[in-house]
Parts: sequence; structure tokens; C-alpha cells
Amino acid sequence: MMMDYTISRRRMVDQQIVERGISDPRVIDAMLSVPRHLFVETGLQGHAYSDSSLPIGEKQTISQPYTVAVMTEALGLQGTERVLEIGTGSAYQTAILAKLAKRVYSIERIGVFIGRARKVLDQLRLSNVNLKIADGTIGWQDQAPFSAILVAAGSPDIPTEYLDQLEIGGVLVMPVGDEEQQTLLRIVRQSDGSFKREQLMNCKFVPLIGQRGW
Ligand code: SAH
Repeated sequence: MMMDYTISRRRMVDQQIVERGISDPRVIDAMLSVPRHLFVETGLQGHAYSDSSLPIGEKQTISQPYTVAVMTEALGLQGTERVLEIGTGSAYQTAILAKLAKRVYSIERIGVFIGRARKVLDQLRLSNVNLKIADGTIGWQDQAPFSAILVAAGSPDIPTEYLDQLEIGGVLVMPVGDEEQQTLLRIVRQSDGSFKREQLMNCKFVPLIGQRGW
């Protein structure tokens, strides 16, 4: 049976996103419009709007809706930006970014996820996304600089490549810590070359694996 999840999605946004303090109307609209159930396997679609991360195979997870909202809001996107995303996974976060920015460059190390991502993004007619199978811990030098970088996997520290690939005023959001727990950081490149750093919340992501990660 084809299910229409509009009511579940509205409830997710009201209870998990708006009630917890997310207020950027563009982020709220994007989360109301992207059909999250299309980013999980058929057997889990009934859980797609629940308040949790979910398995997507290959020992990876689709992030909890609230986490996606916090990270996206922290980027302050207006629609003109070029955004780098590390860890495409299910491509749910990718789709939200594609709604809110001009172009999204998303890197994933696991090939099967890129195939699925292409399919679902095509289905939703989100054509402003470039996908690449690679180690994202060194960023995407050919396409730099970026107005925003979002990293969806936890790292022991911040790869300098990410800082180098940010434009002035650009924002990096990423979880940094050990494998058990991380702090979500928001880092802004200042015009004098320094970086302003802020802690957003505690979180638990799967590990960022590669040259500069684990
Ligand atoms: N935003 C995704 C998160 C998926 S989990 C979602 O909500 O579905 C994090 C993803 O980061 C995993 O798919 C994992 O394979 C990927 N990843 C881990 N290390 C990576 C690296 N060095 N480069 C690219 N992707 C990486």
C-alpha cells in the first residue's frame, strides 16, 4: 500500500523541530517538504518520522531529524551558497541542503550509498547536487572554496583541509570527539584569517574514516 506520510511529517516538524527551538522558517519548510521515508529501506518506512537515527546498512545510520535541523540551521543558508557535505549516507541531509542552497557537493566513501542517493535525488528532481565517492576527510579541493561545510561523521579533530576550503564568512559544522561521544562545533572563518569557534551540543555520530579522521 502506498502511504502518504504528510501527517507524520507535520507532527515530526512540530514536536521534534519547532518545539525544541528551531526557528529558521526555511529550515522548517525544507523539513516539511522532503519525504524522509524515501531515504530509509521499505521495512523501516513506518519509523522514518520517529525521533531517532535509523540503520541504513553498511553499519551506518540516517541522522535523527533534530540533529539534521540543528546542523542545517547552524549554516544559516540563504539560497546562494555552495555547500560541501561529508558523509552522504541516505542523502536525506543532502536533500535538505539542496532545497536551501544553490549547489551541494556531497562526498561518501561507501559506493552503494552514492548509487541510492542519485536515484532518490533524481526522483525528487533535486538537480543541484554533485556526488562523489571518495575520502571526504580531505575535502573537495577542486570545488573549493565553500560557503558552508557540513560533516555528518565524528572525528578526533578538525582536518585543516576543511578550514582551508572555507571562504571568508564561511561556516563549518562538525562533530568532534572520541568514538563514543562528540561535541557539535560551529566554526566561522573571519576576515582576519582567524576562526570563531562555538559548541552547539553533545552528539553521537558514526566515525569519520579516512586519511584525517579515524
Ligand atoms: N547525513 C547522513 C549521515 C550518514 S552516517 C544521513 O543522515 O543519512 C555518516 C556517513 O559518513 C556514512 O555513510 C559513512 O560511510 C560516511 N563517511 C565516513 N567517513 C567518511 C569519509 N572519510 N568520507 C566520506 N564519507 C564518510
